[in-house]
Amino acid sequence: MIPNEKFKFEVKPEGGSTRITLKGVIDEDTDFEALKKTGAPALVVNFKGVTSINSCGIRTWVNFVKELQSTPIQYEECPPLVVRQMNMVPSFVGHAKVSSAFVPYVCDNCETEKLVLVPAKDFGNGNPNIPETLKCESCGEGEMEIDGNPKQYFAFAK
Ligand SMILES: [Zn+2]
Repeated sequence: MIPNEKFKFEVKPEGGSTRITLKGVIDEDTDFEALKKTGAPALVVNFKGVTSINSCGIRTWVNFVKELQSTPIQYEECPPLVVRQMNMVPSFVGHAKVSSAFVPYVCDNCETEKLVLVPAKDFGNGNPNIPETLKCESCGEGEMEIDGNPKQYFAFAK
């Protein structure tokens, strides 16, 4: 078997649950079999390091989550590309709870992008409580605005 260099994960037991940190590309070559064998009573999945997901990767992940139907799962630090999947494919989230997600802000002056981590308490009811604009630290002049509609961005949370 050829090792899959595009995708890596770390498994770390933490108190009553196990944290799985995903890194890289989730596609047709990604194998979640090892993740199923953790036997953890609860899982926390960190998506921060995921750089891309294609349709095969989504299908594999959806099946993985379905197989763990009886295990509580939390998603943390979901980057925009994962949030987009959660909005388009509700079964990508399934029974999992999203505990935090990154929101992309873009400067109207210099186009610098910044990801801001938002905890579930600020988006959990489908009515996001996040700043409309931020001052750009890069150019010091522009205003950073959310790239997209906040309600649509957090549609998965409803
Ligand atoms: Zn700027």
